[in-house]
Amino acid sequence: MRLVSYVEEGNTRIGVLDPAGAQVREFRVPWLAGAWSMADFIREGLESLALMKLGPARDLSDVKLLAPLFAPRRNIICVGKNYHEHAKEFSSSGFDASATEVVPEFPVIFSKNVGSVSGPGDPIPASDDVDGSVDYEGELAVVIGRGGRNIDPEAAMSHVFGYTIVNDVTARQAQRRHKQWFLGKSLDGFCPMGPSIVTQDEIPDLKKVELRTFVNGEIRQRSSIGNLIFGIPEVVSTISRFMKLIPGDVIATGTPSGVGIGFDPPKFLRPGDEVVVEIDGIGELRNPVV
Ligand code: MG
Repeated sequence: MRLVSYVEEGNTRIGVLDPAGAQVREFRVPWLAGAWSMADFIREGLESLALMKLGPARDLSDVKLLAPLFAPRRNIICVGKNYHEHAKEFSSSGFDASATEVVPEFPVIFSKNVGSVSGPGDPIPASDDVDGSVDYEGELAVVIGRGGRNIDPEAAMSHVFGYTIVNDVTARQAQRRHKQWFLGKSLDGFCPMGPSIVTQDEIPDLKKVELRTFVNGEIRQRSSIGNLIFGIPEVVSTISRFMKLIPGDVIATGTPSGVGIGFDPPKFLRPGDEVVVEIDGIGELRNPVV
């Protein structure tokens, strides 16, 4: 199933896409009157789907898609330097003030402010970075279904609800100057997410799935998800040793090589650009830069 959050005639809804991705049908839940969110849906679990009712089919062109988790309760949890080639390009770019090691021994975890989340088609406000150093990072993101603490790696996948796409947009000078990764990654609109959440059962072998990022149609990033240094079970397990994961938590798993600072000179985003992140079987996240 591919689940979306969207606005139809001024009302926020969640629904399911048809296989062609051309139409959406709203989930109506008799026991949840009024506003409810994707996080509520995930907490209720797929088991309760049979009790939900589906609204009539609407053309996707008649609704405005939001980030599937457009108002997350908590920060987006992120993994840094989780592909070998990206760890090398970041280390040699001069923008990594965080560590002396190139490839991390343990997962590097940070977060993006909830206010940074935006949806498919929403503008990336590169002009809000006075340094003009805004960069893209196409990433696979994991959506937690069942919460928990001290989750074993062997059990971790049973806590995963599904997958989405995140562009971990970053102001590189802020990242370098302030010697941390929070500020430069937390500007409003710096976390495009979506267009949908694809349930885990739709992606039987994640390792074979490829991620690609394009800027103005030019391919910049291309990698198999199988190249992750720390895989999803290890990442989920590690984070859950320090904090209780809850339904609807989003974990961005890291970006492969080919980000703007991997080039000499760096290729930063400029107003008028367009970034597309696509992951096989999961979708295409397209955002203009302003
Ligand atoms: Mg990242």
